[in-house]
Amino acid sequence: MTQDLLLETIQSQNNWLITTHKGPDGDAVGSVVAWAAYAKQLSKDYLIIFPDQPAAYLCPFLEGYNWEVFSVEKAYGGDLLFALDYNAASRVGEQMAAWFEQQTLTKIMLDHHPNPADFVQISISIPTACSTTEVIYHVLDDLQQLDQIDLAMAKGLYLGLMTDTGSFRFPSVSSYTHRMTAHLLTLGLEQHLIHEAVYDVNSVTRLQLRGYAIAEKLKLFPAQRLGIMSLTKEELKRFAYQKGDTEGLVNVILSIEGYDAGVFLMETEEGVKLSFRSKGKRFVNAFAQAHFNGGGHQYAAGGFHEGSLIEALTKLESLKEQL
Ligand code: 5GP
Ligand code: MN
Repeated sequence: MTQDLLLETIQSQNNWLITTHKGPDGDAVGSVVAWAAYAKQLSKDYLIIFPDQPAAYLCPFLEGYNWEVFSVEKAYGGDLLFALDYNAASRVGEQMAAWFEQQTLTKIMLDHHPNPADFVQISISIPTACSTTEVIYHVLDDLQQLDQIDLAMAKGLYLGLMTDTGSFRFPSVSSYTHRMTAHLLTLGLEQHLIHEAVYDVNSVTRLQLRGYAIAEKLKLFPAQRLGIMSLTKEELKRFAYQKGDTEGLVNVILSIEGYDAGVFLMETEEGVKLSFRSKGKRFVNAFAQAHFNGGGHQYAAGGFHEGSLIEALTKLESLKEQL
């Protein structure tokens, strides 16, 4: 039923506003690119609106698309509002969330985060999907629209798959993921170029920052099989920090033998951003939600602490038995 309604809505409405979450990652950008390319296929007008500027390494994927960063001063006109790769209005940041809530046009969520909020009219949530781009593919599959997928869509779809699965290694990867990937490759997708565009674009200072964090700023708690890494504003500045430089850094903790949980804390102007990762029987999203104003997936969650880095670290360490 939802599928029929979705198809009818998509086909009848010509002006699409496409949004994703704050701090857009590969799946966020891949999803909006795939959806915008789909809009182009269907000869729709569309605009991609980001809550904030995407990291530089993701911008090449947006070349040739209409996109901008949300401005509170602007009046955005559209018939449909898509929420891709997020499950609650709060994930687009305060200002844009207020705008989102005010909109009276039809809102459609396509997402894979568990426990979606009631914030859209049409909610397509597949928490077992490894990425939102897999959700998009699923939807097109159900709507018998797979033949609409062209190379431009395939690039976005693959970007989300690759980045949200740690290059096809997480438990969320299924046989469906691989069948989808096989289909994308038959369209002429050169997947190694996507991999290179994301993973082989390090600056020297980024590598040095990451090396420094591992060498000097990693604290291990063997009894809890937990590692905690943090960076201050001053340290970030010292290594000429650019957005995206610490992306995925937390995962190195999980690569240490015998460790199955890692937390990375980064000091920002507003407070402290936390990234949680785990594997096996250990889940982090409930902890992030309960103690750090966040949430996410079982194995990958985020949170925020309004206050100093020392405070956040002290709080985290005092709660480590519960993680
Ligand atoms: P990251 O550590 O890469 O920033 O985020 C990891 C995962 O946690 C992502 O899938 C993201 O959707 C989720 N996440 C990050 N920050 C938050 C947050 O503040 N609230 C919620 N609900 N999820 C978050
Ligand atoms: Mn995602």
